[in-house]
Formats: sequence, C-alpha cells, structure tokens
Amino acid sequence: MPGFEVFGDREKQEISEVLETGVLFRYEFGEQRQGIYKVRTFEENFARYVGAGYAQAVTSGTAALKVALKVLGVGPGDEVVTQGFTFVGTWEAILDIGAIPVFTEVDTTLNMDPADLEKKLTDRTKAIIPVHMLGSGARIDEIMAIADRCAIPVIEDVSQAAGGKWRGSYLGTFGRCGAFSFGAVKTITTGEGGMVITDDEKTWRTMAEYHDHGHDHVPNPGGRAGEGRSFIGFNYRMMELQGAIGIAQLSRLDDILLAQRKNKELLRQSVSRLPGVTFRTLVDEAGDSATFLAFFLPNRERAREVNRLLQDNGAGAISFAENKWHYYPNWEHLANGATTCSSGWPFRDRQGRQKVVYDPENLSRSAAIMNRLLAYQVPVKLSRERLAQIDAAIEKVAATLG
Ligand SMILES: *Cc1c(COP(=O)(O)O)cnc(C)c1O
Repeated sequence: MPGFEVFGDREKQEISEVLETGVLFRYEFGEQRQGIYKVRTFEENFARYVGAGYAQAVTSGTAALKVALKVLGVGPGDEVVTQGFTFVGTWEAILDIGAIPVFTEVDTTLNMDPADLEKKLTDRTKAIIPVHMLGSGARIDEIMAIADRCAIPVIEDVSQAAGGKWRGSYLGTFGRCGAFSFGAVKTITTGEGGMVITDDEKTWRTMAEYHDHGHDHVPNPGGRAGEGRSFIGFNYRMMELQGAIGIAQLSRLDDILLAQRKNKELLRQSVSRLPGVTFRTLVDEAGDSATFLAFFLPNRERAREVNRLLQDNGAGAISFAENKWHYYPNWEHLANGATTCSSGWPFRDRQGRQKVVYDPENLSRSAAIMNRLLAYQVPVKLSRERLAQIDAAIEKVAATLG
C-alpha cells in the first residue's frame, strides 16, 4: 500500500510552492502566503474525492482516531469496541483518552465479526471502531445496522484502505467519522499525517477547534476568529508541507489503485497454485483497494511449512499471527497493563486494583483464522523479476508439498 513508491515531480512542485512563500503553517500569515493554503486544499480535495461533507487534516492516523473519539464525547470510564486484528494505533487512541478498548473476533474477512460485536456491547459502549484491514472493507452494512439500532456512533479506521469502497461508496463515509493515516507505508503518504472525514458539520467544527487549541476557524477560513473558546483543545495541526504532498499523492490515488489491482491479480494467480490454498473473504471485490493479498492454508502447521519454503526461495510472506504490531495475543504491553502513568491509569483504579485484564487467549476464533493466514503486500510497482521469483518459489512449494 505504498504511496512512497510513487513520490516524484508532482510532490516536489507542490512543496516548492510552499517553500517560495516560506509560510509553513496552515493558519494565518494572510499576506505573505499569496493565497496558498495547502492543508485546506488537501482537505477540500479529499472530502470531494471520498464524497464526504467535511475533512479535517491532523498529524497522524492515531491522532485522527483520537480527535474523532474526543469530539464524539468519549472519555474515562467508557468502552470502545474494536477488533483484535488491527494496528496498535487503533487502541492506543482509545486508551489515550482514558477509555477502555474491548476487542472482537475477526472472521474470514479479517475484519470485525458482527455477531461478536453484538456480544461485546454493554451500557458503557460509547463508540465502535471497525477497521478495514489490509485494504479491504469490513461487513460495514451489518456493523452499521447494529450500531444504529443501539445508537452508538461508529468511527471507521480506514488507515489501510484509502480509496476502498463498499457498494460504490468510499470506506470511511458510512460511520459518523472515517479516520485515515498518511504514514510511511500507507496507500498515500504525507510523511506523517491523518484525516478525519464526516458529513456532520457540527462534528467537523468541533474537530477543527479541538485540533487547534480551541481556536474557531469557521468565520475566518484559513485564519482564526474570535478568542472565545468553547472547550479545552490540543494541537494536532498538519503543516503546509504535508498538505502540499497530500495534494499530489491524492491526485495519484486512482492510478495507485489501478496498479495494485493489476498486481494483486498477478500475485493471486501465482498463489492459487499452492495446494489447499483459499483466499480471504472480500465483502465487495470491486471495492477492494488491493493493498494486500491474504490467503489461508488448511492449518497452522501447513501455513508455517509453506512460509518456510517460500522464505527459503526468496519469497517469504507476512505471517500476521506472529506479527507483534497487529495481533491481539502478541500485544504483551496491553496484556501487562503497562502504562507510563505511575498510578497505572487507565488499567488500574485509584486503589491500584487491576480494572481490566486482557487475556491473550480470549479471541480463540480469531486465532483459528489468523494461524492459517499468510499475506503479501501488493506493490504499486511489481517488477517482472520479482514476480518471476515469487512464481518460481510457489512452483517449488507446490512441487515439494504435492
Ligand atoms: C497505520 C495505522 C494507524 C495509525 O496511523 P499512524 O499515522 O501511524 O498514527 C491506525 N490504524 C491502522 C489500522 C493503521 O494501519
């Protein structure tokens, strides 16, 4: 999912316009900036691209999730339900506002299992964060139906699936908010950065204020308005250089998706020669952003054996069951309730008693799926040599395992 592969002249041109004025900051400096508002333009372009009413740029994907949680009013004592297969940033944002993450199982979509979501809701649940992992959509219709019935807001984590769709609408536009990341290995990148989209004007205004210390920008776009503050904010402002890169990267997104879809199909044809292989369930194949090819072997032992052989032949796949950053049983700092807070907050109460325990064995149905899973990241640029190497490795594995 790498926008970094296509960084080039368009990005340099956009950056140079910012360097010409010397205005690195998104707000104020009206005269000196010569009408150039890169972050604002990136927001407008992004909202238009995905078909959302509003977009708020921030400093990272994790910040995007945190800003969304904040403006939805989530805080200490609340629970937020997400899934046990995601990047740590999803639940870091939840813990950082003092709320408690609750994890659901994933199914063969590798995303939130709606039946398990239903079981994990309590009267303390204040938000649901389904994650569109590895480029492909969650069962967002079923998740939205459950959330709407219980009147719980949904924040979609679209960090790994920019440009992905479900039945013709962009991922991120189904929930109250959609949170995107533009970090190093995302589909489009601004170095560091993130975006929150929403259709609700009030939600957007609150985000704009919160992410800039409580400043109001609405009466004076590009600048700041009166100094009356509605609430305590923070600083998650994106800078103009990032906005400039974002404009260029977004203009490439359709081409990136096209290339990924083509390359994913080539990899899929190759991988389909593995004996006993099956592929991840896609809820909307046409809407797949095609950043990963995920496939299953019949059992854990087979998956390990296959990957060992692939590695020996220069074509090792990613085993997310062993990945330290994306899978619940491997988050030892979460299981240990390890926090920088000397009081142990938010895992412990004031008396030091453990309030919440994350048992690594909790998500057994996810484990049965994750242990059989292997995946290739789909590059934008897949060289003939690399494809031939993967083809050859898979032929060898198929021959060895018969
Ligand atoms: C990358 C990622 C994030 C966090 O994004 P950063 O920009 O690195 O903070 C959150 N959730 C998921 C699923 C991600 O892949």
